[in-house]
Amino acid sequence: MLNIDSIKKGIVIDHIKEGYGYKIFKELGLHKVDYRVALIRNVSSRKQGKKDLIKIENRIDLDLNVLGIIDPDLTVNIIEDEEIKEKIKLSLPEKIKGIFNCKNPRCITSEENIENVEFILVDKDKKEYRCEYCDTKTSL
Ligand SMILES: [Zn+2]
Repeated sequence: MLNIDSIKKGIVIDHIKEGYGYKIFKELGLHKVDYRVALIRNVSSRKQGKKDLIKIENRIDLDLNVLGIIDPDLTVNIIEDEEIKEKIKLSLPEKIKGIFNCKNPRCITSEENIENVEFILVDKDKKEYRCEYCDTKTSL
């Protein structure tokens, strides 16, 4: 079993839903970095059965909104001196900017190239958001 204490300073993303680790890994661009990172899949977990885990040996700025959309149930552990200094719980953001593009080709945001369009959560279970301009629904 791999331990968290193999990291001196960095971030451990824990309790990732089985199979979502790779998606998060890529979304955070971790396949391109030059510090130590690890994606560990199918770790057995008493709580979840199986889970994925990501270890990042660096303090990076995580976009918690992006993580929240992919898997709101994961935990972000901030590690310092080989210990968990802070645990961050996520939730599905109610409003989100700069992540989605509207899928409606006739939406004013695509016609006029508006950036940072705000999307508002409409369905928690389906993780569905609607465009603030035209109400078209979208999800990740
Ligand atoms: Zn729209």
